[in-house]
Amino acid sequence: MTEPDSGSDANSGKTKATLTPDGKHYLINGQKMWITNGGFADVYVVFAKIDNDKNLSAFIVEKTFGGITMNEEEKKMGIKGSSTRQIFFNDCKVPVENLLSERENGFKIAVNILNIGRIKLGVAAVGGSKMAISKAIKYSTERKQFGTPIATFGAIKAKIADVVTKIFASESAHYRASQNIDDAYNAFVAGGMDSAKARLKALEEFAIECAILKVHGSEVLDFAVDEGVQIYGGMGFSAEGPMDRAYRDARINRIFEGTNEINRLLTIDMLMKRAMKGTIDLMGPAMSVQKELMSIPDFGTSEEEGIFVKEKKVINNLKKAGLVVAGAAVQKFMMKLSEEQEVLMNLADMLIEIYVAESTLLRIEKLIGQRGEKACEIQKEMAMIYLHSAVEKAASAGKQAVYAFAEGDELRLMMLGLKRFTKIDPYNLKNARRKVADYAISKTEYPF
Ligand SMILES: Cc1cc2nc3c(=O)[nH]c(=O)nc-3n(C[C@H](O)[C@H](O)[C@H](O)COP(=O)(O)OP(=O)(O)OC[C@H]3O[C@@H](n4cnc5c(N)ncnc54)[C@H](O)[C@@H]3O)c2cc1C
Repeated sequence: MTEPDSGSDANSGKTKATLTPDGKHYLINGQKMWITNGGFADVYVVFAKIDNDKNLSAFIVEKTFGGITMNEEEKKMGIKGSSTRQIFFNDCKVPVENLLSERENGFKIAVNILNIGRIKLGVAAVGGSKMAISKAIKYSTERKQFGTPIATFGAIKAKIADVVTKIFASESAHYRASQNIDDAYNAFVAGGMDSAKARLKALEEFAIECAILKVHGSEVLDFAVDEGVQIYGGMGFSAEGPMDRAYRDARINRIFEGTNEINRLLTIDMLMKRAMKGTIDLMGPAMSVQKELMSIPDFGTSEEEGIFVKEKKVINNLKKAGLVVAGAAVQKFMMKLSEEQEVLMNLADMLIEIYVAESTLLRIEKLIGQRGEKACEIQKEMAMIYLHSAVEKAASAGKQAVYAFAEGDELRLMMLGLKRFTKIDPYNLKNARRKVADYAISKTEYPF
């Protein structure tokens, strides 16, 4: 799909397909860039515009059709085991029956591929993160300074605990979305839908989650390899140690399958479009939170018992914080909200943190149901570590958004609301981190 002048703006490609006079072939002309596996693929799916169409069409192109040439392999920062080439099409003759789907349906196909690509990238990033932290944990047990393994230092333990917790959290969100997609697929098929259509529809329904997971997974991976380098110290910076490759290989994940900026924008854009269409109700809850803001706060005297009662309330409140900020931003900017990308980034950060924190609690709650509370003590500590960091990030993102568009009494009211909805009881996070790290260190790898 990508071309030298068409990256994030993927529908703007210049590659053209024109019908031959006998109506039997399309001639494809143009240039593609950054094509993964381009060097050894026998079959390509090529996106091009037929004549002066507004939207892309997709073609199945075989290498043997002729008119295909390539540049040398790109010299990349990382993922050097993957072939990446520029591909040139010069009167490449493609039979008309090789038009994939219908004319101008290419962009839609590409978007669908990206949905699945995003969740897959997130899962792969979780795997890479586990590999990186496992190596770093092992190294920390072997490397001695000041007469003791560096794994005994609190500063190193805090790093191990934070990375392990973030990986567990990201994985929880991936499990949740994957199950949701499977369930939706099964329900569509049970309702009589064709299997291929059901797959597309199920993914489309969870496209927001796929974008969230791409961003979260790739950023956890970057965090994991960065802390991995740090735990290895000078050896982390050595091209002969394992962190060199991990650090370089990780970086691409924030760029391909839609950059993380584009994916952040998409999460909010898709959410707003669904709200406008009426498929989800955002404004109703946003209004009721605004009303709640005017009333006396609930001081949390709930008698409810069970696992994570307080923590679930924290999540619920975070959702209210998100609604307060999003609702006010929509009212303020109306149709011009898309021009306020900084605010959209803040909203996306809130959304991502809420989704992942909630997924983590849900997974641990389920695990406790299966194994009992005693067997899940470390997981419970991780729930607290993640929840606290999610609250901090959401509060900070919310504040930045509000500062960007509110002033005077409105600003004061919104800040009060944010404060009310981003409250969390103090918790000894140092001890929590030590427990998580000690457990991981005792296993000398990512332990879950
Ligand atoms: C190793 C590798 C493999 C790849 N494999 C494939 C492949 O197999 N097939 C394929 O089709 N493509 C592939 N790509 C291309 C990849 O998808 C693009 O690089 C990516 O989508 C970004 O496009 P770009 O490089 O043109 O960056 P640009 O679009 O120029 O972006 C540059 C910066 O501007 C930001 N930006 C751009 N638009 C906006 C906006 N509207 N709002 C805010 N910020 C914006 C971006 O987030 C980024 O930070 C690959 C790339 C690499 C490096």
